[in-house]
Amino acid sequence: MQKYLSLFLVLLLLACGNSSKKGAGVGERVLTVTIEPQRFFLEQIVGENFAVNTLVPPGGSPETYAPPPSVMVDLGKSERYFQVGGLGFEDAWSQRLEEINPDVTVVNCSEGIDLLEGHGHHHGNKEENSSLHEGLDPHVWTSPRAMKSFTRHMVEEVVAVDPGNEALYRANYERLLQLIGWVDSTVQSLLKDLPGRSFIIYHPALGYFARDYDLHQLSIEFEGKYPSPSQLKELVDIARREKINTVFVQKGFDRKNAEVIASEVGAELFVIDPLAYRWDEEMIRIATILARETDEKIDLY
Ligand SMILES: [Zn+2]
Repeated sequence: MQKYLSLFLVLLLLACGNSSKKGAGVGERVLTVTIEPQRFFLEQIVGENFAVNTLVPPGGSPETYAPPPSVMVDLGKSERYFQVGGLGFEDAWSQRLEEINPDVTVVNCSEGIDLLEGHGHHHGNKEENSSLHEGLDPHVWTSPRAMKSFTRHMVEEVVAVDPGNEALYRANYERLLQLIGWVDSTVQSLLKDLPGRSFIIYHPALGYFARDYDLHQLSIEFEGKYPSPSQLKELVDIARREKINTVFVQKGFDRKNAEVIASEVGAELFVIDPLAYRWDEEMIRIATILARETDEKIDLY
């Protein structure tokens, strides 16, 4: 109970907006990010001083993303574009962005972070864009620990474009670091004594989360595609052997196939949203699902 109490306190203390993205107003200073969890981080740092524009809007899929004109206009006005780094569509977009507006400075938030090997999955048109990050797992934001340096790139760039408010941004960043540290330790303690440390997920978005907390992620998708019957059989065999009781499917992905596998191995299916704006809540929600007692009913979507 204690931990939930402190969760509520932190959520209450988070004053910054959860409002959905609106276009930048006249004269407003603009920063752009690729995905919603980045907007969450950046808004904790800049408060109301900048409008933060998200390229992939809430509920949008990075795989099929095509930016509408308003997003292009906001991107053109941006003083910085913060990329996750290594998402296929970011590389695809970078080229076009440079053609449309060569003045936007692109920042790779993953720079300096120890990235995992990917498993041949991709976001966007990777075939057409030989990417520097080819073969690396881009879902780095599911590592609370990696978010400390990920967000440091943000604060340094924000200070560079608005040095007059440096003290404010650095103080906000310190608060953000505390929140990230709290998420990390909460997830850590939730997952401390798990009997089974393996889970199944449709699209392998939790590789970094698994690495940080000594879990084992098994992906249904194989190289970005639905698996063959023999790959599927192997997955089901492993799941039974390891007594896996959790199958995740991400919002926006095909739920039916995940459902079939879950019932095949006697596991429960949960919809998660690693692209949610409230990164802190989502990380803790994922850990709470994994840490549940199997007869416990928890209210999760
Ligand atoms: Zn992905």
